[in-house]
Amino acid sequence: MLIHLQSAAPDASIAHFVQSFWMLENSLPKGHPEDPVHPAADGANSKLRPYLTGIKPVYSNITMVEGVIHDAAVNVPHLWQFVKGGKIFALGDERSLILGAKGDGSLSFATGIKEPEGWPAACGIDFNSRDQVRDWFTNALPGWSEAWLELFASDDAYYIPRPMYHFPVDQHWPTLPNLTIIGDAAHRMPPYAGEGVNQAAPP
Ligand SMILES: Cc1cc2nc3c(=O)[nH]c(=O)nc-3n(C[C@H](O)[C@H](O)[C@H](O)COP(=O)(O)OP(=O)(O)OC[C@H]3O[C@@H](n4cnc5c(N)ncnc54)[C@H](O)[C@@H]3O)c2cc1C
Repeated sequence: MLIHLQSAAPDASIAHFVQSFWMLENSLPKGHPEDPVHPAADGANSKLRPYLTGIKPVYSNITMVEGVIHDAAVNVPHLWQFVKGGKIFALGDERSLILGAKGDGSLSFATGIKEPEGWPAACGIDFNSRDQVRDWFTNALPGWSEAWLELFASDDAYYIPRPMYHFPVDQHWPTLPNLTIIGDAAHRMPPYAGEGVNQAAPP
């Protein structure tokens, strides 16, 4: 979701690409009462947000490791059957493992483990190495079922560490008459509540 064109005035149009984001313009004079608010919905790393506020994201103390295994029916047959086209959340020991079936036939997973900020660079793990990521996974989730190790059975996969940041809950800034931010640009949050899209969509 970037800009809700349908929410703008009928004569609004995307005019030009400036400073790496699209500006929505219309023919009304600036400050005209019907001059529409320009909604900025450019996500967690919004380039428009700094025009409204300097409030920085906060590290949540959790770094996820995301993995995607392509052609999951062939490469991870047991877990693919287990997930049944939906999602699985495994929680315990202050750790989480989320599995999700994707429409393109891939299976994604994301671990959620407390790690210090800067861990991806400091941990020394080569996230392009399936063996290294599997060894880390085994150590990071001690006592968890060996059935999860099927996630590392195929080379047709990739892994990416994703530190989780969020904006403070209590945010305030002076408003601008013609710019508002919505979605993750305004209230980026950790994904555990499943509320990100739900909060972003209504505006
Ligand atoms: C691992 C994970 C799991 C999640 N699970 C859930 C869940 O189960 N349920 C839930 O509700 N939420 C979940 N979320 C959160 C959810 O994904 C976000 O809250 C939601 O996508 C925010 O929507 P948005 O439109 O604000 O931003 P985005 O979805 O990030 O959309 C912003 C768009 O703007 C584009 N963009 C940015 N800059 C420019 C530019 N200069 N020019 C053109 N385009 C640009 C981006 O490419 C992107 O497509 C999860 C998030 C993560 C990280």
